[in-house]
Order: sequence, then structure tokens, then C-alpha cells
Amino acid sequence: VSTAGGAAANGSDDARADRLAEAVAARGLDALLVTNLVNVRYLTGFSGTNGLAVVGGDGRRAFLTDFRYLDQAEREVGPGFERLRGKQDLLEDAARLLDGRVGFDDEHLTVKSHARLAGLVEERVELVPADGLVEELRAVKDASEVERIARAAALVDEALADLRERGLAGRTEREVALALENDLRERGAEGVSFPIIVAGGAHGALPPASPRDEPIERDSLVIVDLGCTVAGYCSDCTRTFATGALDTEAAEVYALVLAAQERALDAVRAGAGAREVDAVAREAIADAGHGEEFGHGLGHGVGLEIHERPRLSPLGEGTLAAGNVVTVEPGVYLSERFGVRIEDLVVVREDGPEVLSGFPKALVTVE
Ligand code: ZN
Ligand code: ZN
Repeated sequence: VSTAGGAAANGSDDARADRLAEAVAARGLDALLVTNLVNVRYLTGFSGTNGLAVVGGDGRRAFLTDFRYLDQAEREVGPGFERLRGKQDLLEDAARLLDGRVGFDDEHLTVKSHARLAGLVEERVELVPADGLVEELRAVKDASEVERIARAAALVDEALADLRERGLAGRTEREVALALENDLRERGAEGVSFPIIVAGGAHGALPPASPRDEPIERDSLVIVDLGCTVAGYCSDCTRTFATGALDTEAAEVYALVLAAQERALDAVRAGAGAREVDAVAREAIADAGHGEEFGHGLGHGVGLEIHERPRLSPLGEGTLAAGNVVTVEPGVYLSERFGVRIEDLVVVREDGPEVLSGFPKALVTVE
């Protein structure tokens, strides 16, 4: 039996669990206990809110949920996992499945749960912090994941095209944000991947703030940053619109951010350093005298979560891999005046980026 969001539909969960089993063995672990629900979903297809998985270095794999989710697990969890029923608090039953050196999500398991688990497994099991094993796998998307992200990106393109028709000046930021969210849902999105940002004029120079009940002014810049989810996967896109004539500096900053964004895009390919790609945009902006006004990283990975690995920033580590899905989103923010950010969502390929965001980046005026 397959469902749209389920394991059978993406057909790759066995491959994921296989790769995880290799990573578990490579770390010298007998098994990994996966408690983070996003990681559980990635591995098993299970989208409910109480479940965990155990993946052994020897290939053994079990999925545990309680009675409320048995039917859902039946539909969603692939046959590669032994499906087990536990009590609502799953740790006690999980403890029985564990033996030897067992890694756990130290970033996700609470101190309280860890203490409880340690008490349950006693001397039999050595619990080893092993955060990031599943996250590392998640950073490289397979074709079915890219397809979902691309669909979510296409819905954003359509919503922005609608926005262009409806206009901006005179509407409040909140009205525009609500209309965009409605539009995305009507077009088939499950929801938004984060609260939509609509920030006009000086508001656009502030760190992500909630849309206000203030009308958007004419002859200003408006940052619109939005994303939605399709079959669990997120998209993320930013465009900055003009609501009329711009003064010279605003037009220049827009052109600068666009040039920096395109140069950074050109640097995206498998093997490029996460820090180096960030530096391409950062240097272009610094050379124009606005280095201090680009106060965030260039981009982030996007998948089941809106912010995941890899990170493109001055603190980014490692190199990009084919199949990473990342944003490229430089910005310049002039305090009390305006902000400009341009963000594309791209798939990293061997020879360059495959850009999923289709809405034009040349300055679009929406009055
Ligand atoms: Zn964004
Ligand atoms: Zn982003």
C-alpha cells in the first residue's frame, strides 16, 4: 500500500537506512537510536508525532510507535523496518531493542529522557552521543526529495506572480502576507515553511520582523520572503520589489545585491567550499562599501526543515556535495532606510547550480 507522503511513494527509504547502517558501523557503533521525528520521518516515511527508529550497524532496523499510530505506520513505514508497538512512552520498549555501543541524538534527546534511558538499559548498553549522523545523510537529496522541493518552489513562483498582479502600495504588510499564505495553500501547499516576511521601507532593514498593520508606502523597497511545504519538503525564496520610483542609492544597492547573488550562484558546484561561496558574495558587497550591512550568512540547506545542512557562511564547514539543496541569499540593510535581499533555492550539481526559483530577479516594480 502506498500513500503520497509515504515510504513506498519515495521508494528510497531502504537506501537511506542502508547508508545510515554504514555510517553507524563506521563510527564503531552497534546501533543508532533515532528519536528526532524529522529524522524518523526521513528514514522510515512515518509522519506521525510519536515514533522512533533503531538502525543497527549490521543492518537490523526497527520502528516503534504506540497504538494510536499503528494504521499510519502500516501505510507509511517501509517493509525494511520491523514495525513494533510500544507504550505511549516509547523509551522503555526502545531500551529492550538496544545492546552494546548505541549512539543517540544528543542534540535532540532531552537530558531527562537520556537519564531515563540510561536507567532502563543499565550496564548492558553504552550510550554514545552521535548527533548529526542522519542530518549528514539528509543534506544530500535524492531525486524524489528534489522533486518535492521543486514543486514547493514552483508554488512560490506562482504566488509571487499573483502578488505582482494584485499590487503592493497601500496594502498593509499583514494583508499581503496573509494573501500570499492563502494563495500558496489554495495552490496545493500543505502550509508555509516559516511565517511569511513582508517588510517595506525601513522595516526591511530590521532582522526578520512580523508583518505590520502598516500600509506599504509608494516609491520604496519591500522585502518578501516566503516558502511553503509540499509532501513534507520546504521551499524558500526572497524577492525585493520596488513600489514606484527609487532614489539612486536604493537602485544602486539593489543592483549590487543582485550582482553579488549572481556571482555567488556561479560559484555553487560540487566541491566548492561552503565558506568560499559565502565569501564571493561577501567580497562583492564589501568592495562596494556595504560589508557591514550584510549581517547574515549567504545561505542554508533546505529540506524537511527550513534550516538544515549545509550552511553557507563565514563559519561554514566543508564543501558542497552534489544533491545538496541550498539557498543563496545575500542582503544589504541600511538602518532606518531600507533593505534588499534576493534569495534563490538551488540544487548543487557537479557542474553548477540548478536554480529552482523562477521568479525574475531584475528589479520588478509593483505599485
Ligand atoms: Zn527566505
Ligand atoms: Zn532562507
